[in-house]
Amino acid sequence: MPNAPNIVDLLLTPNSTRPGGNRPGTPLSPQGVTVHRTGDPGATARNIRNYFDTIRPGNESSAHYVVDGTGEIIRCIPETEVAWHAGPAANQRDIGIETCEPLTGAAYESTVWLVADIHRRMGWQASLGLTIRPHSFYSPTDRPEDPFSWIRYQAGQSDSGALYLPAPFLATVEASLMPFKDVPSSHWAAVAIELVANKGLMQGYADGTFRPDNPISRAELAVVLQRLLVLLKQA
Ligand SMILES: [Zn+2]
Repeated sequence: MPNAPNIVDLLLTPNSTRPGGNRPGTPLSPQGVTVHRTGDPGATARNIRNYFDTIRPGNESSAHYVVDGTGEIIRCIPETEVAWHAGPAANQRDIGIETCEPLTGAAYESTVWLVADIHRRMGWQASLGLTIRPHSFYSPTDRPEDPFSWIRYQAGQSDSGALYLPAPFLATVEASLMPFKDVPSSHWAAVAIELVANKGLMQGYADGTFRPDNPISRAELAVVLQRLLVLLKQA
């Protein structure tokens, strides 16, 4: 994994100080991520961010993040506020990411990193399934190919955006979130192991493994329980 990209804050002008903008200030409790493409080949993240910051009453569009081919990630709207990106139902639930085109190289890497970073910060477990959808999930008719040209919305499928995103993208995000290389999300105890590792209750070995079938001693169990008690005290 290359160095983590920086997130650059270039927040949009709030509507409260400039009515008619694209940052309404409505509170958001994020429950997922929607990935978009700009539909504007060659545009940079700054171009798109500045487009979002222009006033278009009745034709609002914005997103929380824009990623471009330099790998730059611009934050336009805080994750605690609603953005105008995928229709009212999606806007009330998801963090929106706009990906500049082509979505290859650094743009792809930064998008993978950002989606994983959001999952980590929100405490969404990869072993429970990634909470990510393309725009086409919400808007199959006007964005049939959004965000990647090889994705197609398939009517009648269950409510799982993961079905509509390319498998290599999802696999890369998932692998970067799973804490141990010998515990894939398909392991029967993956949900528990991911959780106790992320909470700092149990650690792996220096080689990045967890060795899930190793026995545990009474002393080691006592250490885990002590960490749990400290954690509960803090809660
Ligand atoms: Zn879109």
